[in-house]
Amino acid sequence: MSLEVKCKNFDDGCTWTGELREASDHESKCGKNETVVNKSLVELKQILKQLENHDKRIKDQDEEIKVLQKKLKTKTMKCRNKKMK
Ligand SMILES: [Zn+2]
Repeated sequence: MSLEVKCKNFDDGCTWTGELREASDHESKCGKNETVVNKSLVELKQILKQLENHDKRIKDQDEEIKVLQKKLKTKTMKCRNKKMK
């Protein structure tokens, strides 16, 4: 009878299960296996998505800043005109 165990990296997304005597062999390679690569790929995609969202937010803020600058300009113009009079 063999004992089935999960990989110690199960929490990190490794789905490997096998016999206890194979576990140490697997775990020695586990850091470089596909699961971890896939995991980094997922993380990279998440980071990329965050960056894209960040980019969008920056563009939105850019627009907002332009509008505010225009408003500020007209307001200071009005202010100067008042002072002139
Ligand atoms: Zn593993």
